[in-house]
Amino acid sequence: MSDPILSVEDLRVSYGRVQAVRGVSFEAEQGSLVTLVGANGAGKSSVINAVSGMLRPAGGRITFRGQDITRTPAHALVKRGLVQVPEGRQILATLTIEDNLQMGAWHTGGTAQKSITAMYDRFPVLAERRALPAGALSGGEQQMLAIARALVAEPAVMLMDEPSMGLAPKIVDEVFRVIEEIRASGTTVVLVEQNARRALRAADHGYVLQTGEVVHSGPAADLLADERIVEAYLGVD
Ligand code: ATP
Repeated sequence: MSDPILSVEDLRVSYGRVQAVRGVSFEAEQGSLVTLVGANGAGKSSVINAVSGMLRPAGGRITFRGQDITRTPAHALVKRGLVQVPEGRQILATLTIEDNLQMGAWHTGGTAQKSITAMYDRFPVLAERRALPAGALSGGEQQMLAIARALVAEPAVMLMDEPSMGLAPKIVDEVFRVIEEIRASGTTVVLVEQNARRALRAADHGYVLQTGEVVHSGPAADLLADERIVEAYLGVD
């Protein structure tokens, strides 16, 4: 097995006295799609926020391309190719779609017109409305914008926190299609989802979290095929 592009060992995250993440370990092979699933409050967002440098872990070790990034801040990680699409999209509603995309390229110190043009080719709905405030987009379109903004940074690893949250089933299909395309283009994807079955169907490898710990992990297809896991952790479709 080749060295993973991302490796997380014994990660711990605390909020004051609340231990939200209690020794989580996982890894992602280059070009793979890995998903962290689990109920509300299991610690998924805390894990991904610690990996992306948005949160300072209380313990553990995170390596990206073989280098320790445990305490590297988010802005430095973006430059190195590790980018997060945040939960709730966090687009800037009053700025135009174009300006939101430009923000994805701030770390280059200039515009990234080439990669922005590539995003317009990929997401024509954004191209048509590039001069409109991002707040004018529907929820699904805003999710596409959040994904496109992250892709402008040309990441090697893309972390996604609940991209399907609050979206209608048809739009969820579209979001998953885009995620699978991103993976197919060679970008490693770490996907956090409450929509566990859906995420596992798209993923190569899955980790099931419960109260801050990994309780099951393995090839995504194996997790889906295990009725006990499906019943205990994955709920209804
Ligand atoms: P969700 O799907 O609701 O985002 P999650 O699996 O991503 O859930 P986290 O958001 O990481 O879980 O939360 C894990 C635990 O940490 C929960 O008990 C939560 O209440 C707690 N927690 C999260 N953020 C904070 C915070 N800023 N301050 C205090 N406790 C927090």
